[in-house]
This record gives sequence, structure tokens and C-alpha cells, in this order.
Amino acid sequence: MSDTVTRLEAIRASVARAARDFGRKPESVTLVAVSKTKPAEQILETLEAGQRVFGENYVQEAKTKWPALKERFPEAELHMIGPLQSNKAREAVALFDVIQSLDRESLAKELAREIARAGKAPRLFVQVNTGEEPQKGGVLPGDADAFLTRCRAVHGLAIEGLMCIPPAEEPPSPHFGLLAKIAARNGLTGLSMGMSADYEAAIQLGATHVRVGSAIFGERG
Ligand SMILES: *Cc1c(COP(=O)(O)O)cnc(C)c1O
Repeated sequence: MSDTVTRLEAIRASVARAARDFGRKPESVTLVAVSKTKPAEQILETLEAGQRVFGENYVQEAKTKWPALKERFPEAELHMIGPLQSNKAREAVALFDVIQSLDRESLAKELAREIARAGKAPRLFVQVNTGEEPQKGGVLPGDADAFLTRCRAVHGLAIEGLMCIPPAEEPPSPHFGLLAKIAARNGLTGLSMGMSADYEAAIQLGATHVRVGSAIFGERG
């Protein structure tokens, strides 16, 4: 077994164990393997080992790697988890099965337009900037309810859940708790939270999707 597959199997087992430890069904947590900056050959090893859900951060990079991988593994599911420019909405709708970084009105409008045009809708998560960090994407927690309402009522978008990236230097659990609370009061079932360093805490607080990169594919250069 390659090092990558060995790490993948360990993370899978650990995700399932965390789910059970916190009284949840292992299948209620989806492992999103974050393959940004990693070569197609390394991703292929994990596809061959049965991994099916992946996250990428850049439209351009995903375009160079994923069409060929999807041809071999049509059931692979690709999530956009990085900041998305509105002028990339068309390519994103064509390429991704899930977009987790919807975080502003202009992007909602472009996505709605491109979904209508393509006749194909990626599943959508709204990103919330729980730490209110100026450099980070996401709607502010105080704006989330109104934004979700407008996504649905004005743009006709179906929203599956919420995503957050807590500040690196803070304990993540309060951020996971806040995201879960905003989701619950808006009737949303999807919670994308938790990365290599903190996915267990996220599972404890209800994560339905954990996004794990370096713990599977190794440190990024
Ligand atoms: C890179 C990235 C991840 C994966 O981070 P790791 O710490 O390598 O697990 C998860 N979510 C987002 C939004 C990312 O950009």
C-alpha cells in the first residue's frame, strides 16, 4: 500500500471511530479528501482505494486534473471549497458537484444564472466567516440568516448546508458550535467543518462533511 493510501485508511477509520464515540452513525459523516496542489497520480491512488469525495480550491487547477479523473471514475464527487470569483461561476457549475464557498449576493446571482443556463445545479453550501476575519471569505454570522433567505427567495437557490474555516489561532469548537446553531435555526442539515487538525471536534459538534487534506495527501509545499 502507498503512504497516501495508508494515511487515507487511517483517517477513514478515525472518522468512523469519532462518529461512534459521539453517538453518531459513521455514514452520517462524509470524508472530503482535499487534493489541492496534489498531482493527479496521487489522487488516482485514493480513487483506486475507493475514495469518492474530493475537495479542490482553485477552478483552474481542478480543470487541469479532474476531467480525466472523472472519465475513469464517473461517480467521483468534486467539491469546490476555495474562494470563487463570480466570473468563474460558469466553469464552476460545469466542473463541480458541490460548491461550498457561496458567500455573497453577486455570486448567488451568477450561480443562479449559470444553473439555469446549464440545466444542472451543483449542491450548495454557504460559507460563514465565524471568526469575522477580514481576509477570509464567508458571510458574517449576523448576516447569515438574511443571506440564506435571499438565496432562496430572490435567486431560487436550494442551499444544503453551511461551511466554515475557523481562525487558525483559536480553539475551533466555539466556531463549530456557532455554525451548527445558524444551520439549525435555518433548517439546514449540511455542516461542512473540521480539517486535518480538528475533524474529531467537528464530528462531535455535528459535522456532516469533514475536509481533510494534509493528513491524507501529506503537507503542501
Ligand atoms: C486546504 C483546505 C482544507 C484542508 O486542510 P488540511 O489542514 O490540509 O486538512 C480544508 N478546507 C479548506 C477550505 C481548505 O482550503
